[in-house]
Amino acid sequence: MASVPFSVSAIRELFPALRQKVYGKQLIYFDNGATSQKPQVVLDTLQQYYALENANIHRGVHYLSQQATSAYEAARRTIQQYIGAKAPEEIIFTKGTTDGINLVAYSFGERLKPGDEILISAMEHHSNIVPWQLLCERKGCTLRVIPISKKGELDLQAFEELLSERTKLLAITHISNTLGTINPVKELIEKAHKVGAKVLLDGAQSIQHLQIDVKDLNCDFYTFSGHKVFGPTGIGILYGKEELLDSMPPYQGGGDMIAKVTFERTTYNTLPLKFEAGTPHIAGAIGLGSAISFLQSIDMQAAAAHELELTKYAQGILDTFEGLHIIGEAKNKTSVVSFTVDHMHPFDIGTLLDKQGIAVRTGHHCTQPLMDFYQIPGTVRASFAFYNTKEEIDIFVAALERSMQILGA
Ligand SMILES: *Cc1c(COP(=O)(O)O)cnc(C)c1O
Repeated sequence: MASVPFSVSAIRELFPALRQKVYGKQLIYFDNGATSQKPQVVLDTLQQYYALENANIHRGVHYLSQQATSAYEAARRTIQQYIGAKAPEEIIFTKGTTDGINLVAYSFGERLKPGDEILISAMEHHSNIVPWQLLCERKGCTLRVIPISKKGELDLQAFEELLSERTKLLAITHISNTLGTINPVKELIEKAHKVGAKVLLDGAQSIQHLQIDVKDLNCDFYTFSGHKVFGPTGIGILYGKEELLDSMPPYQGGGDMIAKVTFERTTYNTLPLKFEAGTPHIAGAIGLGSAISFLQSIDMQAAAAHELELTKYAQGILDTFEGLHIIGEAKNKTSVVSFTVDHMHPFDIGTLLDKQGIAVRTGHHCTQPLMDFYQIPGTVRASFAFYNTKEEIDIFVAALERSMQILGA
């Protein structure tokens, strides 16, 4: 699909946000794990939709409504094809990863019984922890947690020991937002399926870094957010195997998700609309389709290699800093370098970096249990996208050295 050779400088030209200065300094954006910047083509798509195509979908007989409906459904097909789903019915538009996980926790969760188990890992984002805790409270199920090593890798032996016929769902992150660990999901999925469990992959950090093929992975659910993959906020995707989604009850009730409504009884629409109650984020969906089309124009293998090189480069330099500790040293990791510095608060480091034009994130990264495991309050996290460069890392490293001198003084 890739039409042009991978070129960071050419790609950077497409992102207006990367050209700006903050505090008079060239912006260095290393907070891609929190949200990515948007290419001009996505901004143009949003503008075009609101300027000329704005109408509600699936309802109007008029021209604009039909235009909007076909653009919305075309976006669904673009995403379906990009992640290798069998049919567009398997692609549900959601508000984002959090919404996708809550949908599964609520709807798939309806079939669970007291004593059933849900398996997650110690490196999950809060949005892949709390919905399962709510479900466990609602249904009397038990949440179990796969432990990790200090390096930030799953304990695979413990995983196998935790699996049993009681395990109904494995819900696990594909790539950790805090550690950068790439989990061996194919192996996990195969083993979970052997005991009859379904598998949900939290793809919030993998869709933008890896070429995803849900058929090859054989996951039952895969969910991600538009805003971390160069698309708009407030939109995301839940992929689910068709027969599974078909067997699940609706998540929310309202317009668009029904076949027929009377006061006595309502029948539901077919997939995917059964799970899309109310007027959706139409512009967001079309914008996400545009972001995914943009990805299709990029050699993702080359992009992933570039991101891995950035990660190794940054980690290699930071490793030599006295008093600095890298958090997350999995053999298979990408695009995230999290660290702490002795006697310095991550927030203070982040603030000093910000004044030098460098955007990083500090804190617990919505993974408080993981911070507890490392017995730290938080980290400084630099997270890369394929538009970042080694030159930016050099500037970041120099700025970090200055910050550490100031804070150490
Ligand atoms: C960002 C993130 C989420 C939550 O995504 P939202 O866009 O806030 O819904 C979940 N899991 C991981 C791994 C994330 O990085």
